[in-house]
Amino acid sequence: MTLDEYKRKRRFDATPEPPPEVQEKSGHRFVVQMHRATQLHYDFRLELDGVLKSWAVPRGPSLDPADKRLAMQVEDHPVSYFDFEGIIPEGNYGAGTVLVWDLGTWRPLSPVPVNGQYLPGTDAEAKAMLSKGDLKFRLDGRRLKGDFALVRMRTRRPGSKGNEWLLIKKHDAHEVEDYDIDHYDTSVLTDRTLDGIAGDDGSREWRSRPTSRGKLKAAWLADAVAKLDQKKAESAGKKGPSSTRRSAKKKQNKRGKQSA
Ligand code: MN
Repeated sequence: MTLDEYKRKRRFDATPEPPPEVQEKSGHRFVVQMHRATQLHYDFRLELDGVLKSWAVPRGPSLDPADKRLAMQVEDHPVSYFDFEGIIPEGNYGAGTVLVWDLGTWRPLSPVPVNGQYLPGTDAEAKAMLSKGDLKFRLDGRRLKGDFALVRMRTRRPGSKGNEWLLIKKHDAHEVEDYDIDHYDTSVLTDRTLDGIAGDDGSREWRSRPTSRGKLKAAWLADAVAKLDQKKAESAGKKGPSSTRRSAKKKQNKRGKQSA
């Protein structure tokens, strides 16, 4: 398992994304990140073998078994990408805004059902199913629950890299007919929307000085800390220039509304 491709695509002095480190011990976490880059998509990531196996899902996952969602396999990501939320600055690979749309744990299922039921499987079975192109697994997230399959497509368009999979919900107690992903547009970590993350003063400050909060890997954490710092400063009666700017902006907005 290597993160060479992940590393090759990024400059870590210019992006707040975590460094390419392979974990020795693997857990079974998963994350779905809503990513507003050139095009809005959802990144679906499963922790396996010390990395996050990753797929970009243009329309996002669905709890409706009738939906077969195209999922383009992309480079493995480091496990520490798990809670990455924030802004990837312009000029970087994947530039845009990232929101943690769902997270939780997953487990592989046995490749063959027993009496119509899929039983828990092993990591070895998961790896074999992955290379075969038919991975069955169970999710226990905040939004996504139940049994799923990732199936590699056999038909190849001309120019296709063979990285096209389908993400499919299996029939079970967690399926939802006509599932509408647009009803869920907030972060499960911070309750913010993409616009909230993109317009956050803390994020912007952090983006312009990526090394100043080097210990805080996750941008959302840096944002929270920045807000706390600001509150502290305000309660101590030491209003900085940024809070003055903000209240001036607020007044402007009010005026705008009155005249509208
Ligand atoms: Mn992405």
